[in-house]
Amino acid sequence: MPFRTIIGHRRLISLVSRAIARETLPPALLFAGTAGIGKRRTAVAIAQAINCLQPVTGEFDKDACGECASCRRIERGVHPDVIVIEPGDSGTIKVDQIRDVIDRAGYRPFEGRRRVVIVDEADAMVPPAQNALLKTLEEPPSASIFLLVSSMPDALLATVRSRTPRLRFGILAPSEVAEALLRDHGYADVDARAAAADADGSIGRALEAQSVDLTDARALAQRMLEQSARTSDPARRIESAKELIAKKSSAATERDQLAVCLRVMASLLRDLGILANRADVRSLANADLQGPLSRLAETFDSERSMRAFGAVDRALGALERNASPKVVADWLVLQL
Ligand SMILES: [Zn+2]
Repeated sequence: MPFRTIIGHRRLISLVSRAIARETLPPALLFAGTAGIGKRRTAVAIAQAINCLQPVTGEFDKDACGECASCRRIERGVHPDVIVIEPGDSGTIKVDQIRDVIDRAGYRPFEGRRRVVIVDEADAMVPPAQNALLKTLEEPPSASIFLLVSSMPDALLATVRSRTPRLRFGILAPSEVAEALLRDHGYADVDARAAAADADGSIGRALEAQSVDLTDARALAQRMLEQSARTSDPARRIESAKELIAKKSSAATERDQLAVCLRVMASLLRDLGILANRADVRSLANADLQGPLSRLAETFDSERSMRAFGAVDRALGALERNASPKVVADWLVLQL
């Protein structure tokens, strides 16, 4: 994960990269900023840039190649000179973990140029662990660098904070969050943009929110289908269409929101087809809804499910061609 592949934080990374090239990087640093924006990744990229066997220049003064044995071992977390400490099952970083790393930091690096110690979620260090680290932060062994990563830096002891210059990581732009979701997390374009719009500049938050949003979208899609099963009255159906485009989040657009809901509805309809045809229920995508879907399948027989599936597909196509979400939603509820 070289610098050039990290999304966002260009200015900060430029400064760090220049310091590495000039060998002026301070021996201890505190990476502060919201969770889920790339602080730990940047710390690992620093370890790579320092210890890479064939460093490159280009966008940055010094960057890792990402391919040599050293880069690959750091990426896999098995480089003997790059140590990552993080909270254990207890949710805290214990004094023994810190003592162990201090002992190891006293020796010369085994393979690399400098040993890099990354303390992720550094604020989870219990106070004795922070105190144990203090002396090392005051007089770091010459061949070691300590990178403390924290989204709650003010929870660290003042003595630790005063010995670690702070690098502030800003939040990401929605486009940058979307780029990360697309590239690293297999999101479809429309989902990535919808999730990014609501993530407050944090990739981590977008990933957390995903399940919630999809759950809401699925509940809504299920309600719409149940409503259609109950009534064929056009006025009442149009009334219920309002819910499809009602704003549920500050930033996701009506279009993206409706598209997510329709995609989920298509998956429910596919399952209804399976149930109506008495096909193997193990192929249900929404197996947890088998009860309610079975009841719904009494009205949505095989033919109706197929027809509705086709309508949802056409509605998605219309949305992509920039049709008004309201027009698409009104049209669709009459087809179900
Ligand atoms: Zn390399």
